[in-house]
Amino acid sequence: DVTIIPRDQHQVSRKLLSQNALKVLRRLESSGYQAYLVGGCIRDILVGGHPKDFDVATNATPEDVRSLFRNSRLIGRRFKLVHVQFGREVIEVATFRAHHSQDSHGDGKHSHHSDDGQILRDNVYGTVQDDASRRDFTINALYYRLSDFAVKDYAGGLDDIDSRLVRLIGDPEQRYREDPVRMLRAIRFAAKLDFTIEKYTAKPLYSLGYLLENIPPARLFDEVLKLFLSGHAAASFQLLQDYGLLEQLLPATAAAIAEPDGFHARFIHAALVNSDKRVRQGKSLTPAFLYAVFLWYSTLAYTRQIEEQDIPTLPALNQGAMTAIENQNQRTTIPKRFAIPMREIWELQYRLTRRFGKKADQALNHPRFRAAYDFLLLREQAGEDLGGLGQWWTDYQEADEFVRRQMVKSLQ
Ligand code: ATP
Ligand code: MG
Repeated sequence: DVTIIPRDQHQVSRKLLSQNALKVLRRLESSGYQAYLVGGCIRDILVGGHPKDFDVATNATPEDVRSLFRNSRLIGRRFKLVHVQFGREVIEVATFRAHHSQDSHGDGKHSHHSDDGQILRDNVYGTVQDDASRRDFTINALYYRLSDFAVKDYAGGLDDIDSRLVRLIGDPEQRYREDPVRMLRAIRFAAKLDFTIEKYTAKPLYSLGYLLENIPPARLFDEVLKLFLSGHAAASFQLLQDYGLLEQLLPATAAAIAEPDGFHARFIHAALVNSDKRVRQGKSLTPAFLYAVFLWYSTLAYTRQIEEQDIPTLPALNQGAMTAIENQNQRTTIPKRFAIPMREIWELQYRLTRRFGKKADQALNHPRFRAAYDFLLLREQAGEDLGGLGQWWTDYQEADEFVRRQMVKSLQ
């Protein structure tokens, strides 16, 4: 049962689509294959947004696709895909996949499940109907093709867009077991689109969070970045908290916001609201800053423990930082290129208080000064009393050389 919406009854027009994606569709169709735009790009256009990338689904095999486009390469093991490259734009082309139930272990060559029901390999090809039923949410299973410019709806996604609902296709618990990351995707789409997670899709979230332990920490790191760097961080955080998934993903952060004084909850909230604002303004966000915020409480707690063994603040802080990061790495691996700047942001929280002699200028010239200063302002915004330190640094940056010397002298 598929609903076909003809070209004059939906808002997907070629003007809103990537020219390169259209090229891929045309080439596949003219070579005798079926080809559709599917997933986020169609969903985002139908909710009135702008797609950020374009995914194509086709009955051509990855090898067929590879041979049609010179500018393409095969990627993926769990899911075999072809990336067609046009300058900086990549069009992802996937072959229709069939869904398979857990008891179809039979030929373990192509698909394979773990004991928890997780799909470990998934390269069984099928029809467009098959492809629709193994997608995650109804709103992600809308297909658009050029042969008649129609949108095909196999799972009731259009109704769910109208009702603003994130709904899994099929049995929710089974779908989460197959791929627990779908729990995070449900939250991400609800936050991004300002949709509600449909009742039966929401219910298992409260009890299946532990399944995220089976997901490689590197994949979870990527999901965390998608949740928090795309302009809907505050909403994503709230939903993770509501459904009890924050403990799984960021245990130290969950502990921080549970602190009775409320400081860390306010600090994290302020940082996330500020991040979302930066995204809207087109400013950059770094994973390092985000994780520095999430793990600040944990770093401070370890630092305090270490200081109690009569170790001076700076080495204690460095050791505390290392412990906080190592603990988080059990859940979401933080690559070194982010862990290093995180530690610098934290270390600068201490160094920004030491301003005598040349110290203020050394801090100001540190490559991480700007991030550390922003971090400091957020701490104050959350209610921490730092004796006007943020304002001092604001003034210092704006002052000329003469005034700067006066400012440092008057600290004595
Ligand atoms: P966005 O790109 O805005 O994050 P998207 O919906 O395009 O959203 P992608 O991760 O790019 O998300 O995936 C493309 C499509 O592939 C999805 O719309 C969905 O149909 C399907 N898909 C992706 N991940 C899964 C999954 N874990 N389980 C089932 N289907 C998935
Ligand atoms: Mg996408």
